[in-house]
Amino acid sequence: MTRKILVTSALPYANGAIHLGHLVEYIQTDIWVRFQKMQPREKVSECWYVCADDTHGTPIMLRAEKDGITPEALIERVHGEHARDFAGFHVAFDNFYTTHSDETRACANEIYARLKQAGLIEKRTIEQYYDPVKQMFLPDRFIKGECPKCGAKDQYGDNCENCGAAYTPNDLKEPYSAISGATPELRNSDHYFFKLSDPSCQSFLRRWTRESGRLQAEAANKMQEWLGFDENEGENKLTDWDISRDAPYFGFEIPDAPGKYFYVWLDAPIGYMGSFRNLCDRRGIDFDDYWKPDSTTELYHFIGKDILYFHALFWPAELEHAAFRTPTGIFAHGFLTVDGAKMSKSRGTFITAESYLQTGLNPEWLRYYYAAKLNSTMEDIDLNLEDFTARVNSDLIGKYVNIASRCAGFISKKFDGRLAEVQTSPSAAWLQPLREAAASIAGAYEEREFGRALREVMSLADAANVVVNERKPWDLAKQQGRESELHAACSQAIEAFRLLTLYLKPVLPKLAEAVEAFLGIAPLTWSDAAVALAAGHTINAYSHLMTRIDPKQIAALVEANKESLAPAPEAAAQKHAEKQENAATVAVAQAAAEPHISIDDFMKVDLRIARIVDAGHVEGTEKLIRLALDIGEEKPRQVFAGIKSAYDPAQLVGRLTVMVANLAPRKMKFGMSEGMVLAASGAADGNTPGIFLLAPDAGAVPGMRVK
Ligand SMILES: [Zn+2]
Repeated sequence: MTRKILVTSALPYANGAIHLGHLVEYIQTDIWVRFQKMQPREKVSECWYVCADDTHGTPIMLRAEKDGITPEALIERVHGEHARDFAGFHVAFDNFYTTHSDETRACANEIYARLKQAGLIEKRTIEQYYDPVKQMFLPDRFIKGECPKCGAKDQYGDNCENCGAAYTPNDLKEPYSAISGATPELRNSDHYFFKLSDPSCQSFLRRWTRESGRLQAEAANKMQEWLGFDENEGENKLTDWDISRDAPYFGFEIPDAPGKYFYVWLDAPIGYMGSFRNLCDRRGIDFDDYWKPDSTTELYHFIGKDILYFHALFWPAELEHAAFRTPTGIFAHGFLTVDGAKMSKSRGTFITAESYLQTGLNPEWLRYYYAAKLNSTMEDIDLNLEDFTARVNSDLIGKYVNIASRCAGFISKKFDGRLAEVQTSPSAAWLQPLREAAASIAGAYEEREFGRALREVMSLADAANVVVNERKPWDLAKQQGRESELHAACSQAIEAFRLLTLYLKPVLPKLAEAVEAFLGIAPLTWSDAAVALAAGHTINAYSHLMTRIDPKQIAALVEANKESLAPAPEAAAQKHAEKQENAATVAVAQAAAEPHISIDDFMKVDLRIARIVDAGHVEGTEKLIRLALDIGEEKPRQVFAGIKSAYDPAQLVGRLTVMVANLAPRKMKFGMSEGMVLAASGAADGNTPGIFLLAPDAGAVPGMRVK
């Protein structure tokens, strides 16, 4: 029976740039899809790969407001950036759409209506914090206050970063709105819940999560923990899921509930359907064939392990009870670390897709390295930058490309580009194992054991190099009367190179395209492993296929991703904790040492005129002054500045200066620092070093943008 397959990658949020961590998933999915598309049509007749930007929710709404544009304009801009980055890494979606679409809205409304009809939607009144200044209900992450357990200040509404306690926003002491700074009020609001605790959902999920192939073993175990292990214990661990949010909200209004919107996590997975529906309409594909309950097609979701809850519990339960098919399988992967640690902006390892491409690095290097590290588990994978360079240079250049670059020239020069007979030649028997490996390499790709597939390909490349080294075409070429040996040796090496290219094609699609042009052949498919190029087939002149990675390129990439406003060298070298915490104070432009930045990079820094409305000493520090800075917001910002050696707090009050307003808030042992002030530092000739706070000319007022 021929397979029809629909594949998705998780939807990137339309609020930020694609980085190398995201790319693990898109590259993993793309390799799997490309492998399927290389199968003969009688095996896999259709394979579709869809994705979309996830565009709804409070963060999008607030971000657009901050940028002074509509949410629609924001998500359109980000969609363009995401599409550019994915194309740059050869991620070939059949459709990259948006959740803010008529198709997704229609699917969301339909699922909601069917769940409601099934008695699984319930309206309840809940008590929630409301920001009276901003006039909106606050999501948990937008409420801050003192931790009810340890008393740490400025903690989020859902958990404490200091002691790790989890709680609800109502438990916070001295709560305030992270948006306006106002004290929130508890107000009642009607919310809509999906009744996940209903026995029909529970028993369905217990059965579904244990079915063969649905989840990886470790994911299935995690689900059992969440569900409770034994149905007979009567333990009901799942609670109902709040699927609505109050206006103002950027999303889909619930059809029968004016002023109420679907929560972004409800319509995000439905965005897979919406994107596919859009593709179906454009390409004449039968949507219902893929989504009806008894569908014989296959549906796979590639996701990060952090969103398993949404994909393995909420999503199948929704689909099942709304009379749609459920996923055939959910494939979760681990997180990316760089050089063994979390990606870090200060170390320059928080690397965006855009900067990788702009630095001139070949995207297929990264595709190869990720593939070599990927398997079917949820283990994290590490991008070790030194190993990255060594592995790509050794495998792709040293082993693989080398075969063609050493042999192709003789075919062109001595044999007019024509190949000798390979398939039936006795001296070509060594190619048989390379040909037969097609089945086991296919098996490895199918099971998402990409690392295993590439190890096998590279050991075949090693074997081919051994044969080339033994036959020494460069020696044969110098000897009279050995032309046919030379012709056979080089033709067989080219055939080995063709087979290796076929096996690498899901990972290296652009390189394979260049090889196909060089060999003068149609796009390689998996069945092409069986038959060698015919005697007399003409290949084109060899031209360079891939360059080595120069370690300098990696150094430039890391440099380009370091936070543009690095701490002053002086501050960075300090040993005392308090001074290390001081990165958010005196910034000295290391302009001479840094490569150029674009105007866009500069514009990312939100510089504002600030009035120092209060300044005070900070107990237990020799260096810091606590500043309260008015930049025209509801509430002054608190900033700790390392300027005490040069200023007395009293003389600062009332002064205007310049602050970085969009620096991520930083938790220090004295409290949150919500920005940084700008100052020059250094020594005038022959003098002791000083610190000089910047000040604007007369006429500037708090909140003005500096650019
Ligand atoms: Zn705490």
